[in-house]
Amino acid sequence: MKIGFIGLGNMGRPMALNLARAGHSLVVFDPVATALQALAEAGATAGASARAVAATPGLDLLVTMLPAAAHVRSVYLGDDGVLAAVGQGVLLVDCSTIDPMTAREVAAAAARQGNPMLDAPVSGGTGGAEAGTLTFMVGGAEADFATAQPVLAQMGRNIVHCGGAGNGQVAKVANNMLLGISMIGAAEAMSLGVALGMDPAVLAGIINTSSGRCWSTDTYNPYPGVLPNAPAARGYTGGFGADLMLKDLGLATEAARAAHLPVAMGALAQQLYQAFSAQGHGGLDFSAIIRSVQGKTAA
Ligand code: NAD
Repeated sequence: MKIGFIGLGNMGRPMALNLARAGHSLVVFDPVATALQALAEAGATAGASARAVAATPGLDLLVTMLPAAAHVRSVYLGDDGVLAAVGQGVLLVDCSTIDPMTAREVAAAAARQGNPMLDAPVSGGTGGAEAGTLTFMVGGAEADFATAQPVLAQMGRNIVHCGGAGNGQVAKVANNMLLGISMIGAAEAMSLGVALGMDPAVLAGIINTSSGRCWSTDTYNPYPGVLPNAPAARGYTGGFGADLMLKDLGLATEAARAAHLPVAMGALAQQLYQAFSAQGHGGLDFSAIIRSVQGKTAA
């Protein structure tokens, strides 16, 4: 297939490389010149702009992997953007994590000029992007999902159709809001038990065979020394940055506001991550929020 790929950052670069390795003909763009280099070395053609990539003759599919909704708006809807140049019928797939309302608005604009569009945010982080094991949560028409599925499967392992336009983003924000909340709960429960005299590993073992068990306790426990491979075991480096969690909690609370739904726990989690980030810790893994619970954020 001839595939356009716009946005070659921490996630987009390894994803695009997996498509190049799978034998697709790629035309790529990112405003950061060094981001283009790895793709050029893998045989991709560097486009001069997002518009130039979109205008490539014979394009079958165009993928974007951009930081946030404002970038998605400008790349698709701007005067020099994708929709101004892309051929009718080219399938557009936005893998950025953005709010469902923007995803639906951009998909509607694409549909008005004859371009089907899917929102396909991912989970699995940069490790999953490199290994080609991402989970894709996809919103859009069933037939378009069927067209994109084999291509997404070259970058991921679980490719899930979540319903109509925007529903991929809905699944992503709902899951990540729960994750943000559950991590703070795990941090509080572990800290409380240890402060009252429990051994952290024994406490984690009890929780993980009891009703408090969740991913934040059994796979990603924030207490140091409980799990040898969790970010807590390496000073909260690597993993999923607290600032990325803060971004996703912001998307969740904004989406909840639009849906007139109270998400008190999600909003509280957002504020706690906001405070943690404001103290300069946004680059740490999000499980480092336990330091805030323990009053150790200056460490
Ligand atoms: P990133 O900042 O590393 O990469 C984004 C890239 O987009 C950059 O290279 C940037 O130059 C490029 N870009 C910005 N404006 C552009 C424009 N106008 N035209 C073309 N390219 C432009 O971000 P990332 O970590 O790759 O994340 C991308 C998306 O994936 C985000 O929405 C993020 O929330 C989501 N995500 C990230 C992770 C993760 O662990 N990093 C995990 C899951 C989802």
